[in-house]
Amino acid sequence: MKIGFIGLGNMGLPMAVNLAKAGHEVVGFDTAAPATPPLAAAASAAEAAREADIVITMLPNGDILRAVASDIIPAMKKGAVFCDCSTVDVASARDVAEQALASGLGALDAPVSGGVSGAAAGTLTFMAGGSDADFATMRPLFDIMGGRAIHCGDSGAGQAAKLCNNMILGVTMIATCEAFALADKLGLDRQKLFDVASTSSGSSWSMNTYCPAPGVGPQSPADNDYRPGFAADLMLKDLNLSQQAAERVDADTPMGELAMQLYARFVGEEDGKGRDFSAMLPRFEQRSRKS
Ligand code: NAD
Repeated sequence: MKIGFIGLGNMGLPMAVNLAKAGHEVVGFDTAAPATPPLAAAASAAEAAREADIVITMLPNGDILRAVASDIIPAMKKGAVFCDCSTVDVASARDVAEQALASGLGALDAPVSGGVSGAAAGTLTFMAGGSDADFATMRPLFDIMGGRAIHCGDSGAGQAAKLCNNMILGVTMIATCEAFALADKLGLDRQKLFDVASTSSGSSWSMNTYCPAPGVGPQSPADNDYRPGFAADLMLKDLNLSQQAAERVDADTPMGELAMQLYARFVGEEDGKGRDFSAMLPRFEQRSRKS
């Protein structure tokens, strides 16, 4: 297949390279630097999109997605599929899909989880919103770039799944970190807390797979001085999206809101910027009840 790939950053580049290595013809475009082999380079997003059967975007946010979409949708071949894999707000995802469908294109929102290592290894999870037919068209490409692809519903459902999932993740990571910090002050060994909670009702992905305590549980960014992994800045972005969506539909999400506030302080005023989102543990460690 001919694929246009727009946004060749930390995630997009390895995804595009995996598609090219699997034998697809991939034309890439990024405003920061020209694409290099095994990708072919285009001079603009519209040029990357023009001949493509499928265009994939992997961009920082909804405003940039909207701008890129208005450049490429008029350039794309009728019947081609526009698949956005960025994490953006549900409203941008729905608007862009509507524009694409109105121009005779297919459209999917298909944000990912699995991070930069999953993008490189081709083990991402895709959560997709759009029609059965467009999902079926994209499926072989999801299988190259990822390990799982879940069709979540109509346009916007992929983004909705992503922001709900990451709201759970942000909240459980904070709960896990504050429990370790409380255990320290209670004189409870961290390894013992892990042994109990990881096999009991306190278990979660944050505890069992991505334990925020260095030297405890499987290898995680905590064992690498909290280098990301999944940066606290990106968690803040996703929590902001969850609260923006909750606001729009009048959903009560007090824990999500508090998690967003804590990550905003962590990234903006404390030393969280550029650190892994599990570095909330040393943050709690240094604090007292009233600080
Ligand atoms: P990134 O900043 O490394 O890459 C984004 C790329 O888009 C950059 O190379 C930038 O130059 C390019 N870009 C910006 N404006 C453009 C335009 N108008 N036209 C073409 N290219 C443009 O970000 P990333 O880490 O690759 O993340 C991409 C998306 O994936 C984000 O929405 C992010 O939330 C999501 N995501 C990231 C991770 C992660 O662990 N990094 C995990 C899951 C999802």
